[in-house]
Amino acid sequence: MRLIVASNNSHKISEIKEMLVDSNLDVVGLMDVGFNQEIEETGTSFIENAMIKATAIQKEFPMDAILADDSGFCIHYFKDAPGIYSARFMGEKTSYIEKNNKILMEMKNIENRSAYFVCAMVYLYQEYSYTTIQYVYGSVSKTIKGNEGFGYDPIFIPKEHEESFAENAKLKSEISHRSKALKEVMDYVKYTQL
Ligand code: IMP
Repeated sequence: MRLIVASNNSHKISEIKEMLVDSNLDVVGLMDVGFNQEIEETGTSFIENAMIKATAIQKEFPMDAILADDSGFCIHYFKDAPGIYSARFMGEKTSYIEKNNKILMEMKNIENRSAYFVCAMVYLYQEYSYTTIQYVYGSVSKTIKGNEGFGYDPIFIPKEHEESFAENAKLKSEISHRSKALKEVMDYVKYTQL
């Protein structure tokens, strides 16, 4: 069965491919299926935005299974921002080096560095629909750490660990918000195939 991941983010798609390597799903991204329409994320929550993406893709590919996630980074000191605006924080074109440095600078003297990643994931297959939302908690580092992963990975240290997500991709693939969500979705996919 073909699973279309509703994303153009090659890092995200390869993370998902990697996690589903033992499944019988043929995982492809939007570029692979030639989908290049802009989907406006007009929702006010992660779940709403994930559903908007998933249904837009399903309209074009009604025979395929669709997986859409909407994820983001929430920082306690910034009242859980950037949240659903994580990609748009400081403008979509601003590099993550700049975004991450700005956060570190603004939090230079801040003690409470609690932060978390969220992933809302929607799986659609014909008339079936499954939604989950998962979290990974931790803190904002004091410096940029590591160069694996993407986005805010270099400034996020999961709780009970010392390395950032960008320093330890293996750890990230085991405990991340996205891997937890994907595990839940896969349980559901297995159930629908029983
Ligand atoms: P979206 O789900 O593609 O809309 O992701 C929104 C944004 O959240 C990304 O562009 C990143 O800025 C951030 N983000 C989501 N997941 C991760 C992650 O696993 N690592 C680092 N940043 C992430």
